[in-house]
Amino acid sequence: MIVGVHPLAGFDKLLHYRVPESLRGSVVVGSLVRIPVVNALKLGIVGEIGPPGDFPVERLKLIAQVVYPFPALPPDLLGLARWMARYYACGLDLIIETMIPVAVRRGAGLKQEKLLALATRLTADDLATLERRAPQQAKLYRFLEQQFRPPAKSLVLSRLGLSAAVAAALIRRGVVREETRRIERIAYADDHATGELVAAQPHRLNPEQQAAVDTVAGNLQRDAFGVTLLHGVTGSGKTEVYLRAIDAALQTGGGVVFLVPEVALTPQTVARLRSRLEAIAQGQRCVVWHSHLSEGERLDGWLALATGEARVVVGARSAIFAPVQNVRLIVVDEEHEPAYKQDETPRYHGRDVAVMRAKLARAWCILGSATPSLESFTNVEAGKYQLVQLTQRVDDRKLPFIDVVDMRIEAMKQRTLPALSGRLVRAMQDRLERREQTILFINRRGYSSSMLCTKCGHVEECAHCSITMTYHRSDEMLRCHLCAAERAAPLRCPKCGAPEIRWRGLGTQRVEEAVRRVVPRARIERMDTDTMSRKNRFREVLASFRAGQIDVLVGTQMIGKGLDFPNVTLVGLVDADMSMHIPDFRANERTFQLLVQVAGRAGRGDRAGEVIVQTFTPQAEAIQFSRHADFAGFAASELAIRRAYHYPPYRHLIHHLFRGKNPEKLKFFAEHWAKLVEKTFGDRVELRGPSASPIEKIKDEYRWQLWYFTNAVTKVVPELQRLREEFAWPDDLTQVLDVDPVNLS
Ligand SMILES: [Zn+2]
Ligand SMILES: [Zn+2]
Repeated sequence: MIVGVHPLAGFDKLLHYRVPESLRGSVVVGSLVRIPVVNALKLGIVGEIGPPGDFPVERLKLIAQVVYPFPALPPDLLGLARWMARYYACGLDLIIETMIPVAVRRGAGLKQEKLLALATRLTADDLATLERRAPQQAKLYRFLEQQFRPPAKSLVLSRLGLSAAVAAALIRRGVVREETRRIERIAYADDHATGELVAAQPHRLNPEQQAAVDTVAGNLQRDAFGVTLLHGVTGSGKTEVYLRAIDAALQTGGGVVFLVPEVALTPQTVARLRSRLEAIAQGQRCVVWHSHLSEGERLDGWLALATGEARVVVGARSAIFAPVQNVRLIVVDEEHEPAYKQDETPRYHGRDVAVMRAKLARAWCILGSATPSLESFTNVEAGKYQLVQLTQRVDDRKLPFIDVVDMRIEAMKQRTLPALSGRLVRAMQDRLERREQTILFINRRGYSSSMLCTKCGHVEECAHCSITMTYHRSDEMLRCHLCAAERAAPLRCPKCGAPEIRWRGLGTQRVEEAVRRVVPRARIERMDTDTMSRKNRFREVLASFRAGQIDVLVGTQMIGKGLDFPNVTLVGLVDADMSMHIPDFRANERTFQLLVQVAGRAGRGDRAGEVIVQTFTPQAEAIQFSRHADFAGFAASELAIRRAYHYPPYRHLIHHLFRGKNPEKLKFFAEHWAKLVEKTFGDRVELRGPSASPIEKIKDEYRWQLWYFTNAVTKVVPELQRLREEFAWPDDLTQVLDVDPVNLS
């Protein structure tokens, strides 16, 4: 028997080996094996069974070990790995290493304990004989006979003061048998809190939810691949629909992958989800999968899934690689979340990979969101995805109205640039009187380096790319970091002539100080990456906020996701402009998503909610459509712009980053490379750049970038990859390819 193996040894190649007689029964495609590579034993995944083309078989080396008696990569995952390697221009070895957790690759032994169980019951006569001849064995027998379930061997022997030989003798007689049990470490096993998004008990479904469940259950019966976009307004009970769909999938005998964005993975949500899923799976274990697991926890979960002992996994992005057997359903909650994109190699998008895995496994995929990505929405329009809508909130309450405050007028009234408008201050004071809570969001994702006129709201944009230009302080220039167009930064607003065109965003700290001034009696807590560096601090603050010990919570988006605070009746978005004017064609989409999601946080209890949005550009479409959570209206207007400029979702975008210490050399090679690409396949890709990155220098390294626009990623990426491997890059230059980036920075 000859097999082709993908070694996990720092290179991407298929090597062939012979399988010794003794291992033949246990090697299948997807097996994790140990193989000799040069002079060391390395791990590898069996990629194919069959001899190599022309290499003399007798000279092949032997496989040394099969690590697990079941495949580490089921066929759908191996197929997925190959697709990812091509699509994301990444070595197959790196992809496989991403798919198989470190603890599993180490082949770490299971933590096991031995149990003693009765194999047969003795008759009274036989027992009497045993008492006479071997009283110690009889003592052990009588003890085991009284046990409800098999006890641990070490425990029994020490308690009865017997040696292992006594147990061994009973085992030889066939009276007792030894069993092995894994000691499982289960993540968050002790963490059961209340009051989260996932109801502890199943709700009764409203007619819309029921129709959604029926549609998905019907899809599952068809035993074919397909994708449903579940578009439900905030608070419409999408989770309940997912849970019923998962129930239906488990009843077909298959497995389920449930992805949630990392940010939503608070222990409480996970605990609640897990207990609901375990109830659905009739006591079967649900495996939790995310980046904070210990190695032991991860190994246990992985083994439970790979052996088929567990059939459901819930987790963040990388849970899409969990070795669930016979996947029937994949759910991606909050599918629009940029958190699904991994920002290191392999730079994959969890949602896109989920759809591809469903396709390879012939399974159904549900993408759910209150604000679907325009990528998924255009797939509905093109007839590729099925659309299911939930238009009502489960409690039948109206969505909170979004009140937009024009900060241009506010700046005029207060004769300075205030952090908080009079409207927001009054609303906060009012909440404090009524002992209700307030959340203030500050958007820190943006750059403070765009030019915004605080008199008229004008923003400097690139005429070719329709994105905000980046202001470079060092040489007083405006640059478009997509197409490299540049011009001198204006001293006065080109539209209204006012000198107030250099506006910088607000930091969380400044907002916190402003809040302290206007509501001095309020208990205020700030929550951002600076204050949340201590482990568990995040959870502590959320817990005391929930307990009503904080009146105003000031923070970045990290407080908004998947959390539910019934006593919050006011949500303020302090600077909507920051997200709207980042130099990215997705700026409007992100702003719309942010506003709708933020509004969904207000007034989830029995009190009505209010949302106040402060902005210098109140007329912007992202803001106007979000006031009534009008997704269809927003999508239509935004897609018209995307189509006009040929942006995603109408074409794919690939980012090529060049990094190095020597700026001249960097520029030279980036330009040289761009010319080569243009010459080789300029007819299939549109190039923009190269240009300096919006952040030109990080940790003493300069950064240049190049953009490729194309309709055919699967054709263009392998060609780019081949050209990249042949190109003579200097040693001190690093370059990174990112397919379908979610941020243009
Ligand atoms: Zn102006
Ligand atoms: Zn441009």
